Amino acid sequence: MSILATIKDHSGRIYRGIQSLLLLAIGATAMGALGISRNPSSGGAFAISIVATALALMALMYMRSNIVQRLRSAAAAEAEKHHLLVRDAVTGAMTRRYFLETLGEGLGTLRSRRDAALLLIDLDHFKQLNDTFGHQFGDLALAHLVRVAGQVFAKATVGRLGGDEFGVIVPHANLAVINRQVQQLLNAMRTGKLHEGKVIPLSVSVGVALAPIHASTASDLMLLADLALYESKAAGRGKATVFDEEMLSDKRYRRLVERELRAAIYLGELELHYQPIVDTDGAVRAFEGLVRWRHPVRGLISPAEFIPIAERSTLIDMLGEWVFRRACADVGHLGRRIGFNVSGEQLKRDEIVSMCERVLRETGCSATQFVIEITETVATAATPEILGRLEALRGLGFHIALDDFGTGHCGFNYLKTLPVDSVKIDRSYVSSLINDRVAQIFVSALAQIAGIQDITIVAEGVETEEEFTLARAAGCRRFQGYLFGRPVPLEEIGASARASSVPRLLTA
Ligand code: C2E
Ligand code: CA
Ligand code: CA
Repeated sequence: MSILATIKDHSGRIYRGIQSLLLLAIGATAMGALGISRNPSSGGAFAISIVATALALMALMYMRSNIVQRLRSAAAAEAEKHHLLVRDAVTGAMTRRYFLETLGEGLGTLRSRRDAALLLIDLDHFKQLNDTFGHQFGDLALAHLVRVAGQVFAKATVGRLGGDEFGVIVPHANLAVINRQVQQLLNAMRTGKLHEGKVIPLSVSVGVALAPIHASTASDLMLLADLALYESKAAGRGKATVFDEEMLSDKRYRRLVERELRAAIYLGELELHYQPIVDTDGAVRAFEGLVRWRHPVRGLISPAEFIPIAERSTLIDMLGEWVFRRACADVGHLGRRIGFNVSGEQLKRDEIVSMCERVLRETGCSATQFVIEITETVATAATPEILGRLEALRGLGFHIALDDFGTGHCGFNYLKTLPVDSVKIDRSYVSSLINDRVAQIFVSALAQIAGIQDITIVAEGVETEEEFTLARAAGCRRFQGYLFGRPVPLEEIGASARASSVPRLLTA
């Protein structure tokens, strides 16, 4: 309940109490008056009830003014709280969350797209400014940038997205006008800011992307403006660059993501989210850890965007180690087995086995608490070395799961030769169980073969009760999907899911 509502609620009760008292006193006075007219000797009681009425009236008036005053200050406190949520305290720019919301709204709906431009602005050499002239000056420089941007881009929304990074949403996509305004901004910043009698010149780098020409969703527009900003920085800063398609196509994009991802691992921008895996009764039996990247500017980035890039270098090993360490740190809190994904690229190097051994030793965890998920395509293309590594990992005590089964060319005969403990049936099969007879036969046959070999079948991507029923009928024993819970951070996993288990949806 908000402060305002609490005050209203409490005061309302007291106010009503006094009101009843007043009514009683008036009643008593009236009765007293009646008594006097019949029996003049009862004047004393009458006087008392008049005094009581007067006192109650005064109390009521006092209460009223008190309540009005309290409501006023509570309203002011609430407005202040809202302001702090919406506005960044240092610069007065909109906070990141509200900025992103405004950007989404500014782009219109799928049906009626609106013209807009997104500018990402970075204050160059912010760290050096802070180190040389002090944090106070750093803050002043940021506030100055927001003020100038607000003046140059009239009717635009300015938001603070990260430490020294800002966004501007311009409500049109007229590039000639935007270019002119960006030049004004660059010039105004170069003019500088006064510090202890000296003018300190400032410089900013700018990246521009236009909607709907370049992209029409907030996250895509952010990505493209970010690429353009990166170009400005790479070209020596103090410049503005408008996004162009070239930036996406070549190595430059990959290099940017690689560089940023490497930094993200060190800066703690990665998160491991957990999705429950339940049994036929809906009780949580395990979790799958799925990595996410909380980018300071672009927000939460899906692994589908960055894993393929990480896989092109040994960056995937670094990322894989981070994931496993995180899972080790969380497994005690979850109280269930954790599955984590290991890329085929990691399995091409011995490092995967030594890394797992090292992390287990350092964290004191047991391999039996984890399931390593490898995709079906890795398994079908597995060399003797890769199979050897899988055996070694299994030898350490890890369970091995074959992920995305059904998407590649993995025949049932692979199940005999591959060292796996469970098979995860791809979502595409689960969703077609309803109307595709072939899918039904495929899953049932797989479940039968798996049953003989003591392999557990997991149905992935279960979204509806109907899919759950059909997958159960086909012989699946474990289930994962939005029906039971989306991947969420550790803190958001309910105590029930951790401890015993039955997800809300199934008990409700
Ligand atoms: P995956 O291992 O097949 O993971 C399942 C994906 O399906 C996840 O997407 C999950 O969010 C999504 N999903 C789960 N239930 C449902 C559902 O009911 N409906 C729908 N539509 N989707 C559902 P996510 O998290 O985007 O991960 C995508 C892929 O990225 C993963 O596919 C996995 O191959 C890879 N990945 C994720 N985390 C890691 C990691 O730590 N390391 C490596 N190497 N790869 C990872
Ligand atoms: Ca997986
Ligand atoms: Ca999968």
